[in-house]
Amino acid sequence: RLRTLRDDADMSDTLHTVEVGGATPYRIHIGPGLLDDGALLARTLRGRHALIVSDGNVAPLYADRVEAALRAAKPELRIARHVVAAGEAEKTLANFGGVIDALAALGATRDACVFALGGGVTGDMAGFAAACWMRSIDCVQLPTTLLAMVDSSVGGKTAVDIPQGKNLVGAFHPPRAVIADTAALRTLPPRELRAGLAEVIKYGAIVDADFLHWLDAHCDALLAGDDAALAEAIARSCAHKAAITERDPFEHGERALLNLGHTFGHAIEAEQGYADGLNHGEAVAVGMLLAARLSATLGLASWGDAEALRALLLRFGLPVDIPDGLAPEALLARMRLDKKAQASGLRFILWNGPGAAKVVADVDEAAVLAVLRGG
Ligand code: NAD
Ligand code: MG
Repeated sequence: RLRTLRDDADMSDTLHTVEVGGATPYRIHIGPGLLDDGALLARTLRGRHALIVSDGNVAPLYADRVEAALRAAKPELRIARHVVAAGEAEKTLANFGGVIDALAALGATRDACVFALGGGVTGDMAGFAAACWMRSIDCVQLPTTLLAMVDSSVGGKTAVDIPQGKNLVGAFHPPRAVIADTAALRTLPPRELRAGLAEVIKYGAIVDADFLHWLDAHCDALLAGDDAALAEAIARSCAHKAAITERDPFEHGERALLNLGHTFGHAIEAEQGYADGLNHGEAVAVGMLLAARLSATLGLASWGDAEALRALLLRFGLPVDIPDGLAPEALLARMRLDKKAQASGLRFILWNGPGAAKVVADVDEAAVLAVLRGG
């Protein structure tokens, strides 16, 4: 069962725990300062080996603190650190191999634990290494981007990229625990924070109309990095992702709703080349609005709801327009290649207004093209 509860011991409004049920239950701890909470970090450990995996931006900021907290709580622990260069381009099989080598060098046993300290790139790659080492060891996710806190650290998908495409090699491997220190978001570039907020808005759009109102009311606090507002937004997002992935862990149905805006978004990302232009969250923001307009075109949502979504995205400083220079026909061609596209034709997550979405197969290409053309 899933529930969100306040931490009674603290009574503060910045600490949250989300319990994820299903075949492999785990807890998501959310709040400021948790990376220094040695007792909490150590409670997740079964054995005597810990490997901290991080990237070149995050390790200098936080790895010493995590290591010190772990050492203080469990002096007999054997801890190693493995740092990979930052960026999506580093989410490779070669760097996955580097994490495996680090586990081997540590002499990690079956009860060892990988701590994935960083954004989704680190979490996906370190999680995949944990899934593979000795056919799977524990991975504790220590997400440091908002996107990783609300999305990639929860739900158990792990992967690396290959030249043929993103996330093509991976495994389902739920974390042992997720520990999200909201204070770590203070060093996150504002643009990365907004990208995470796009995914937060997505949860409101697909399953929680009240959450959309709450987000509208707390926009300034969230953009200013207010701990209580961020913790609440993260907890609600995680509760939604956890509930959905608990009911549909392997994406046979409902889990696909988490991809609202992603068919359009992925096409934009692919067409502009991943290096510059919109980042993932920004592309999803544009994609959600396009999905809303497509839904309105098909009579599934109202134009007023689509317009309200646009206004909310703009308030959060997110883009709502397809970047200049991307041809509608080229974007449509990308969507035909999307791995979510099925033999039956174009498949979209469409919107029925705030808090309601559904998967629709065989969407009319002419309608999609019209929306891409801004018609
Ligand atoms: P990222 O890991 O590249 O982090 C973004 C940037 O922020 C990096 O440069 C990183 O070094 C830096 N950074 C991270 N934390 C920081 C901090 N606290 N202070 C300063 N800088 C910091 O990217 P991301 O947006 O976190 O994650 C994107 C990845 O997540 C993609 O590879 C995507 O495929 C994956 N993803 C996976 C899932 C899943 O279910 N597994 C879901 C969504 C996304
Ligand atoms: Mg996404």
